[in-house]
Amino acid sequence: MPAGLLVASYLLVVLAPLGLAWARGLAPRSPWDELATGLGLLALAMILVEFFQLGRFRAVTSRVGSDVVMRSHQLLARAALAFAVLHPFLYVSDRDPAPAWDVTRQTAVDYTWHGLWPGIAAWLLLGALVVLAIGRDASGLRYQHWRLLHGLSAAAVAGLGVLHALRAGRYSADSALAWLWGGLLVLALAALLYVYAVAPLLRRRRPWRVATVQPVAERTWSLTLEPRFRRPFRYRAGEFAWLNIGHSVFSLDENPFSIASAPSGGPRLEFLVKELGDFTNRIGQIPPGTRAWVEGPQGHLTLKGHEDAPGIALIAGGVGLAPLLGILRELAAAGDPRPTVLIYGNRHAGQIIHGAELADLSRTHGTEVVHVLSEPPPGWTGPTGVIDADLLRARFGRPDRRDWLYVLCGPPAMLRSVEDTLITLGVPPARILSEQFVYD
Ligand SMILES: Cc1cc2nc3c(=O)[nH]c(=O)nc-3n(C[C@H](O)[C@H](O)[C@H](O)COP(=O)(O)OP(=O)(O)OC[C@H]3O[C@@H](n4cnc5c(N)ncnc54)[C@H](O)[C@@H]3O)c2cc1C
Repeated sequence: MPAGLLVASYLLVVLAPLGLAWARGLAPRSPWDELATGLGLLALAMILVEFFQLGRFRAVTSRVGSDVVMRSHQLLARAALAFAVLHPFLYVSDRDPAPAWDVTRQTAVDYTWHGLWPGIAAWLLLGALVVLAIGRDASGLRYQHWRLLHGLSAAAVAGLGVLHALRAGRYSADSALAWLWGGLLVLALAALLYVYAVAPLLRRRRPWRVATVQPVAERTWSLTLEPRFRRPFRYRAGEFAWLNIGHSVFSLDENPFSIASAPSGGPRLEFLVKELGDFTNRIGQIPPGTRAWVEGPQGHLTLKGHEDAPGIALIAGGVGLAPLLGILRELAAAGDPRPTVLIYGNRHAGQIIHGAELADLSRTHGTEVVHVLSEPPPGWTGPTGVIDADLLRARFGRPDRRDWLYVLCGPPAMLRSVEDTLITLGVPPARILSEQFVYD
């Protein structure tokens, strides 16, 4: 499904309740009442669709990238919260109950406690949910505990919101809209159930074990996993997976890491892990043989659909090398004749991962490997500083490189500046693939 179709499907679903309400052809109320109801319908539909933007569905993440999915999840949740906050305050009709002649409740709003309490509860919970998601790092909550809380309260918001619409809504009393709410709620909860219960159950048949854990650069480790099952694990170079190491298959203790190995390199998967927090700081202590679970693959940082690109530029910052190394290894193994350039930025030489292998790939596959260091050692002859516009212009400013495929992975600031420069150089946005390791 192309990305445009995803956006169109999204709009279709979130606007469907408004369309169904309008299609009932009821006599209009005051514009403020209609606006209040419209915002409520929109907010509820958006909340229900949020469950499909968990970054766990390959059909979605392979089109736009998990970082984009998660970012839109965050932004759309904030928009839904804004609509929901306004919703109760815009009503101007204060008649309740409706007079006997007013069977369609044209002149009255349902203020009965029976209809109101689920709405108030959903409203308060949604606010708390979004505020806690924004202030997650400051809250001191462990990421895994926050995720559990987030999932459970989101399910409660969805259920209470639908209950409120069915009990208090003028338009939701109609059977078509009531069915739509019921259907969306079931699908939303099913998505949650699939991610946290069904998928782990299926994964039980595909256990992995830690094969090696080795330091490869400053505070960076190479972790390899080998499958304990027969069926091949299919993935594309550049994708990522959620790793759960040493926990129950149902545990929420899982973290996303890019696959640095190439599919043609055998059944083992390699991950490059930078020490950063709770899990990654302890990576070097994981004993070989530990059981592991791999959820995935996911992501859009792959060459699929870009077979016609005349050349491939890989631009990495730090551990962002991981998915790009997978791509480079795959291209080399396949003997792909297209020219490749790797621009790899680090602070100092001790942070370069798999430097010897990169030098080898340069010799055997002809990849132009450009190391950029902001704190170079004495005698360094390569570029210094950061991956900036001048460096990119010198490498990719030629017209024949405009149609190359540019694959980017690294810190958000680096990605933004590289993307801007490439676009200034005339590279079409569709030829730029980028993925960041943080969702904020
Ligand atoms: C698509 C993707 C690919 C990634 N690939 C790599 C890679 O190849 N190599 C690498 O070193 N790092 C990679 N990361 C980053 C890596 O997932 C985090 O560094 C790691 O999860 C941090 O966990 P922690 O417990 O050590 O740190 P914590 O101190 O617990 O967390 C630090 C921050 O990491 C993020 N984080 C923590 N746990 C999770 C989680 N379960 N899911 C999502 N984010 C989380 C949160 O933003 C948190 O604030 C990738 C991230 C993403 C989203």
